[in-house]
Amino acid sequence: MKRLVLASGNPGKLHELSAILDDLGYELHPQSEFEVSEVAETGTTFVENAIIKARHAAEHTGLPALADDSGIEVDALDGAPGVYSARFSGPGADDAANNALLVEKLRDVPPMERSARYRAVIVLLRHARDPSPLICEGSWEGVIQLEPAGDGGFGYDPYFYLTDRECTSAELTAAEKNRLSHRGKALAELKRKLLAQGV
Ligand code: IMP
Repeated sequence: MKRLVLASGNPGKLHELSAILDDLGYELHPQSEFEVSEVAETGTTFVENAIIKARHAAEHTGLPALADDSGIEVDALDGAPGVYSARFSGPGADDAANNALLVEKLRDVPPMERSARYRAVIVLLRHARDPSPLICEGSWEGVIQLEPAGDGGFGYDPYFYLTDRECTSAELTAAEKNRLSHRGKALAELKRKLLAQGV
């Protein structure tokens, strides 16, 4: 088994990625095992932030490192909240405050102009100075609705309406969401790339 460090403390992400990587002969270790500190996400793109996190973990552990970054882009807001999705309503933001701000900003925007997409990026750095990171991306198109529906998922899901499914992403089962989502697509690309070229 080849060892990789995951630049995240999120148990959900560890579980989701381990399921794929185990099959491919990789053993994924959370960065908390090595007491890697949190690093400031100072990038203005998802790719930059994922690379910052992976590089920090690779520097501290000497292992190849995986990191992800994700968020939602709303066209009527010029792509905001984007990389600031988790902290849209300010430091210490929670899902309820972020969603309330999103609804407020879109209140006078007609439904046709409330198009949005989730984006997810997963990067793998073979070492801290790797000049060509493996970059995997996924996106998922939707429309922001002003009333919440559904209690699955997290974050912006109750407001993220899927035109083809006629429901929000919070109304899907976890398995359906994983199959359709930005993160699911980025994970599938990671699997394809690792199978093709390995680390
Ligand atoms: P991070 O990638 O863990 O930094 O999370 C970015 C933020 O984007 C989350 O806190 C959510 O606000 C939002 N986000 C990313 N993916 C999803 C999703 O699948 N559903 C709802 N919100 C999401």
